[in-house]
Amino acid sequence: MKKLVAIVGRPNVGKSTLFNRLTQSRQAIVTEIAGTTRDRQYGKVFWNGREFSLVDTGGWIVNSDDILEDEINKQVNIAVEEADVILFVVDVRNGITDLDTEIANMLRRSNKPVVVVSNKADNFEFGYQSAEFYALGLGDPFSVSSINGSGTGDLLDHILTLL
Ligand code: GDP
Ligand code: MG
Repeated sequence: MKKLVAIVGRPNVGKSTLFNRLTQSRQAIVTEIAGTTRDRQYGKVFWNGREFSLVDTGGWIVNSDDILEDEINKQVNIAVEEADVILFVVDVRNGITDLDTEIANMLRRSNKPVVVVSNKADNFEFGYQSAEFYALGLGDPFSVSSINGSGTGDLLDHILTLL
């Protein structure tokens, strides 16, 4: 059976950009407005002669922070249930937010392998800053830039070891 990797994280951290980078597609909608991926988007990733499925989860445009949190919790729960590996995307330019901590707490309670992906590390200085995400209690973060692709090869190598 084909393995499934899920991308989770709060809105605007770059989940859809990472999805597009890893699937080399323009499938997922990327925008400046937080929460614009309305549906769960599935794609395929090919790396080093192997293949796995990738799912991008979305936030929804809502007015209330509470509803937003509920939606994210729902998406994280679905991801934990259906995926073999979870990519937890955070934004190195923002550091750890309350919502990141909440998602981390949910993921730590799951028995699934989780990879913390410190996105928007477009240059090496941001790479150093990624170390702070170790405090989420989910292991060493992987620094990537979904925009310029740096770090994504190492991330893919690591994902394959978990599948
Ligand atoms: P999502 O809500 O988590 O799916 O986030 P999106 O993929 O829609 O991206 C949100 C914003 O972050 C967009 O303006 C992206 O261009 C930007 N973004 C995503 N990845 C990167 C990155 O690696 N570096 C930088 N500088 N910006 C990024
Ligand atoms: Mg999105």
